[in-house]
Amino acid sequence: MKIIQSTCNYCSIACNMDFYVEDGKIKKVIPTEKYPVNKGFSCIKGLNLDKQQTIRNFPKYPLLKQEDGTRKQIAWEEAYSIFSKKMKSIVEKYGCENVACISTGQLTLEDMSLVGHVFRNYIGGQLDGNTRLCMATSVVAHKQSFGFDSPPYTLNDLELSDVIVFIGANPIVAHPILWDRVKRNKDKNKKIVTIDIRRSETAKNSNYFYEIKPKSDLQVLYILAKYLIEKGWVDEEYIQKHTENYAEFKEHVKKYKYESLQEKTGICFSDIEELGKLIHEGKKVSFWWTMGINQGYQAVRTAQAIINLAVMTGNIGKPGTGANSITGQCNAMGSRLFSNSTGLYGGGDYADELKRKKIGEAIGVDPNIFPKGPTLPYNVIIEKIISGEIKALWILCTNPRHSWINNTEFQEAVKKLELFVVQDLYDDTDSSLLADLYLPVASGLKKDGTIINTERRVSRIKPVLQKADGEKTDFEVIYEIGKALGMGDLLEGWETPEKVFDKMVKATKDSPCDMTGINYKNLDEGYGIQWPFKKGEILENNERRLFENNEYYTPNKKVKFIFEDILENPTPTTEKYPYILDTGRGTVGQWHTQTRTREINYVNDTVPKLPYIYISKELGEEQGIKTGDEILIESINERVSRFKVLLTEDLSKEVMFSPLHYIETNNLTLSIYDTYSKEPSYKYTPIKIIKV
Ligand code: SF4
Repeated sequence: MKIIQSTCNYCSIACNMDFYVEDGKIKKVIPTEKYPVNKGFSCIKGLNLDKQQTIRNFPKYPLLKQEDGTRKQIAWEEAYSIFSKKMKSIVEKYGCENVACISTGQLTLEDMSLVGHVFRNYIGGQLDGNTRLCMATSVVAHKQSFGFDSPPYTLNDLELSDVIVFIGANPIVAHPILWDRVKRNKDKNKKIVTIDIRRSETAKNSNYFYEIKPKSDLQVLYILAKYLIEKGWVDEEYIQKHTENYAEFKEHVKKYKYESLQEKTGICFSDIEELGKLIHEGKKVSFWWTMGINQGYQAVRTAQAIINLAVMTGNIGKPGTGANSITGQCNAMGSRLFSNSTGLYGGGDYADELKRKKIGEAIGVDPNIFPKGPTLPYNVIIEKIISGEIKALWILCTNPRHSWINNTEFQEAVKKLELFVVQDLYDDTDSSLLADLYLPVASGLKKDGTIINTERRVSRIKPVLQKADGEKTDFEVIYEIGKALGMGDLLEGWETPEKVFDKMVKATKDSPCDMTGINYKNLDEGYGIQWPFKKGEILENNERRLFENNEYYTPNKKVKFIFEDILENPTPTTEKYPYILDTGRGTVGQWHTQTRTREINYVNDTVPKLPYIYISKELGEEQGIKTGDEILIESINERVSRFKVLLTEDLSKEVMFSPLHYIETNNLTLSIYDTYSKEPSYKYTPIKIIKV
């Protein structure tokens, strides 16, 4: 029996798993003991990766929609030809800026780089990722504050920290291995703190829980900063030497009044005193955030308010500290750096002529083929489809009919397209079913490449199983599309994932994410490598934390305090819509739109089949609603969804919570985005109950 170590391609922890393979079948899956991320543990999703070999016969050939709406199987060559002819004629007629592609943080770094080459460098179209839905806020916050998209931590910081503050994050459900690292922290006096709008699983297992009102997080963070400054509980020396804009920030936070704290945020002054003392008395304080912060209408500034707290208290660049954004998808970090969509390969700036030249030389292309600027963001792509400007859309391994905010709008939008192509393992996702052309691709178990996890660790995805006749990987399909489009010599050197990886590594030379010391050979040693890792370097303990030398990636090497006045909520509750819908991960076993996890027996047996919504017991009693009732919920944009009710004591009366794994949830959410990151504001939708 062969043992093949590969990476779980669900969440951003990117656990490694040992696949025991015999006669072309996986006999068992065991979390890799030696891998420094998951250390012999994993969640139920990783343990069930082998189910993808047996559960169904995945389609192997493309499907073309017929005039009567049925789908006909066609040969691969025909599919490539239809794709290229139609795409080229649309580009000719409407211009290259009016064709678009949306990829995903589930693809490998190599797949993304190749799509970026085909769709941006060659076609010249718009290309955004579904990472816009989860990580765009952190990216912008990092770039503006640190000078580069650079989450600074190692997961080991969770084991070293004595005060661990989670803000808008529920790792017990969303990142269970990250929580396992918290539990491995040997400090008996460590304090786990959660700030959230609901008593989540993580909140219930924390030493301190501060239940704040929805979207009052920025207010809380500014007032906390004000309190720490007033008490003198800041690291003046660090601030003087390594930061800029502090005096202005200090002035800014003065305007937030303790008197209005309770009314605006739901917590009181004594909570701020307690929280401030915890941070002050902590020797190694780490701050961790995820979608509760990222998915808001003022999200970038909120993320930066967390960065400001870490910086002003000197809790950055040292073991057990940091302002640490937790990524969502397995390769969101790879997408952020290598998709050639919002920035040049390796995190470069499209406007930087020198960088264009350097990267062009490194990867062997004329820099003039690089796009002139960042892509249009996801929301604008959808808006332009609706307005009739964008005419073609190619989607790779994502399911926006389900996951996009205000998702019914997506269904309406694609009806206007002249060409809608979906590339996915499954032919029955809500999005695949709408496609004019469906391109089937092999599962991650058959792919070759790399991904980068939440702590910037690059790891290998290896083919555990062989492809069947007719099956293609994402990489092969993208490459063949490039050929059919007529890229010719432009595809020279892009033939295999390894060649593309080596190109991308060269593109990072002398950049903050320098990966010139990483290759498939040293990744195959099986520990993963965190960037930056320059050629010739040796890492102690196989881990790397950023900013240990107190130098940032800004021109003056200082970290910048960034802040602004708190915005009015663009869609507050009203008399008619008095409650707030919050959304998020429902259970450990469910992943996003449930495309893959719906087939895990354990998940099916333990989670409700029907979409469900949590409502506070208090409200239930008041409204005469019981657990198990079915109700209709209407959102402020007059969309209606049906849910099963689960009454809970973990929510305040104003807030309801519905998992994102059901299409009904994002039927209700609104087309509201953060100003800078354009990340959707999933966490606040005014709603009302219609009893059934
Ligand atoms: S889903 Fe995440 S936590 Fe679970 S096994 Fe995969 S990588 Fe690990």
